[in-house]
Amino acid sequence: MALSGLEIFKLLPKTNCKECGKPTCLAFAMQLAQKKAKLEDCPHVSEDAKEKLAAAAAPPMQLVKFGNGDNEVQVGRETVLFRHEEKFYNPTVLTVTVSDKLSGEELNKRIEKINSLEFERVGQQIKVNAIAVVNESGSSEKFAAAAQSVKQGSELAMILCSDSPEAIEAAVSKTSDRVPLIASAKEDTAEQMAKISKDNKCPLVVKAPSIEALSQLSEKVKSGGVENLVLTLEDKSPRESLYNSTRMRVLSLRKVFRPLGYPTISFIQGDESEQVAAAASLICKYSNIVVVDAAEPEVILPLLTVVMNIFTDPQKPVQVEPKLYSVGEPDENSPLMFTTNFSLTYYTVESDVESSRVASYILVVDTEGTSVLTAYSGDKLNEKVVADAIKKSNVEEHIKHRKLIIPGYVAVMSGKLEETTGWEVMVGPRESATIPKYLKEVWQ
Ligand code: SF4
Repeated sequence: MALSGLEIFKLLPKTNCKECGKPTCLAFAMQLAQKKAKLEDCPHVSEDAKEKLAAAAAPPMQLVKFGNGDNEVQVGRETVLFRHEEKFYNPTVLTVTVSDKLSGEELNKRIEKINSLEFERVGQQIKVNAIAVVNESGSSEKFAAAAQSVKQGSELAMILCSDSPEAIEAAVSKTSDRVPLIASAKEDTAEQMAKISKDNKCPLVVKAPSIEALSQLSEKVKSGGVENLVLTLEDKSPRESLYNSTRMRVLSLRKVFRPLGYPTISFIQGDESEQVAAAASLICKYSNIVVVDAAEPEVILPLLTVVMNIFTDPQKPVQVEPKLYSVGEPDENSPLMFTTNFSLTYYTVESDVESSRVASYILVVDTEGTSVLTAYSGDKLNEKVVADAIKKSNVEEHIKHRKLIIPGYVAVMSGKLEETTGWEVMVGPRESATIPKYLKEVWQ
């Protein structure tokens, strides 16, 4: 937890020498607490105070990365329990398992199926982020071979799951260049797993039966030189998992309890419906990596949708690029209408225009991702903004008429808009759902 200005002040020399550029040590402490000054600006801070201040300033949760290249993923470094307090930083990494009991064609098909789990939602690509190779065969050779096949068949980040240090060592030897996450070290294997993790510079999952045992084990592994840790509890019911996950997050963020200050991973069991329910709960609270067995699109899409919604910055609405969009194959006589760049608004309008089967142009105006009425009442949508958008889009080169259909909710701006642009303004429907009727009956 960050120190307050007064707590920082207690660690300063209190000589008010002004060398930091501030009139007093207290003023400097206050600026430091607000991150408006740097500790280095005071040349007289003792080494002991520096250490204390650095420790207090360290994020309450470690950032852990695995995978490489474009498919590297990062988890952790969260700072708040509720996204409205600030925002969540690193989305849950959704992972699908591959058993090492599979081989040959069956294994390749499973890998291809996981690779294909990618969808478009409100203009954004969402996809599975990692593959977990699971040592169900009990054989180190089969596990290493399956890990190598996954490496060859997929660019996704990898998690190697086995309780056997021998199996992990065999699989890591084939895949270390892909920086896999190693899962998992338990009390009796911690030393060997930590050595493999350290030697290969791969992050390590630490597993224990209770929160207390987990915090002791994470401290032990950390003191052995492994800093990039991910935590997990041994099999629990979904209810217990949710309770423990919440408790661990509270302890790491609110109490800054460092032994639990790492991201967490959950391995989800059960039939498909149970996996969706348990995974969705743990995406919300507070698993950083969720591993499911199901690779069906009807399981994965809802989970990716939950991730997308939970990890959207609440202060930044999902937006589309402000520009001229074509629906169908419009020509110089096609209708032109405008809407705002709030994703939900744009995709609703686009879908209704599409269902009208009237090829059209939609001019998307930059209103900082707000909807029509919100933008208008906040003066982010006015005649000047629309006139600028018309100019920037070069729409005049695409159509020969000079008619603009505006949303019915902002009919009030039609007069000023006509004056500013010189275009004929047609007031469109208030509700997007009636656009098809409008285009067929009024426009045509
Ligand atoms: S330089 Fe350090 S000791 Fe001097 S006033 Fe600033 S904070 Fe205080």
